[in-house]
Amino acid sequence: MALQDPLPKKPGHDLVDGCVYGPVRSRRLGWSLGINWFAPMTKVCNFDCVYCQLGPTDRLPRREDFVGLDVFSQEVEAAFARVVAAGVPIDVITISGNGEPTLHPRTPDLIDCVLAARDRYFPRARTWVLTNGTRIHVDGVAEALNRLDERAVKLDGVGPWLIDVDKPLFGFRWEALVEGLRKLRDYHLQVMVVRGPGENVAPAALVEWVGWVRRHALRPKSVQVYTVDRFPAYEGVRPLSRSEMAQVADCLAWHLPDVPLEVVWPEE
Ligand code: SF4
Repeated sequence: MALQDPLPKKPGHDLVDGCVYGPVRSRRLGWSLGINWFAPMTKVCNFDCVYCQLGPTDRLPRREDFVGLDVFSQEVEAAFARVVAAGVPIDVITISGNGEPTLHPRTPDLIDCVLAARDRYFPRARTWVLTNGTRIHVDGVAEALNRLDERAVKLDGVGPWLIDVDKPLFGFRWEALVEGLRKLRDYHLQVMVVRGPGENVAPAALVEWVGWVRRHALRPKSVQVYTVDRFPAYEGVRPLSRSEMAQVADCLAWHLPDVPLEVVWPEE
C-alpha cells in the first residue's frame, strides 16, 4: 500500500450511530455529550484530513446523509432525558459528530434545537462546536455558531501545508474562511500537528501559519495545539513526541505572544 492510500475503515475509526453520543468523562472537560446530525456511521465532510479519526472521506455528501430536524429533535430529547435520569452532570455539549457539522443545510435550526434542550436539561453545560471553518461565511451560519458558548475552528496549515494535511475536496476558499472568521464573535484556533504524510511541523510551515494569522489580523481567543491520539485515516500518520510538541509550542508562543496557547500533550 502506498503511503497516501487511505486505510479501510476499521472498528477503531470513531463514526457514531446516533444523534447523541456519550457521556464520556475527561480530566480536561469533565462529563461531555457529543452531538451528530449526520446519518449513522456515515462520514460527511468536505475535507479528507490525513489524521481523521473517522477514517477517509470516500464520497461526496448525499441528501440522505442529513438527519431531519424532527428526528434530530426527538433523539436529542430522548437521549438528554436518559442522561438526566442516570444522574450524570453534563459539563460540555460538543457539536462535531460524523464530519463537518456546518455542511448540514439546517445547521442554524439544529443549533437552536440543541440550545433549547441544553437549557431544559443541562443549563450549566457549555456548548461547543468544532468546525473546519469552510462554511461559516454562509448566510445564517456564523450567527447560529455565535449563539453557542464556544467555537473551535481548525487551521492545520496554510498554503500547501493545508492542502497536504487536510486535503480539501470541495467548498474551500481562503477568502471565505477569513470572511467567516471575521463574522464570529470569538473563536479558538485548533492546530493538529502530525508526522508522516501531510506533515505540517517544518519551521517554514509554522512561520507561514503565524504569518497568515497576523496578516489577516485574526484575534483568536486561544490557539490549541494537539497531535494524533486516535487511529488516523492514512497509513504512516504519527503523533509528535512531547519534545517535538514543546518545540512547536515555543515557536507559536514566540510569534503570537498575545494569544493564550493551550497544548494538549501526547501521552508517552
Ligand atoms: S475536517 Fe474534521 S471530520 Fe473532516 S476530515 Fe478533517 S478531521 Fe475529519
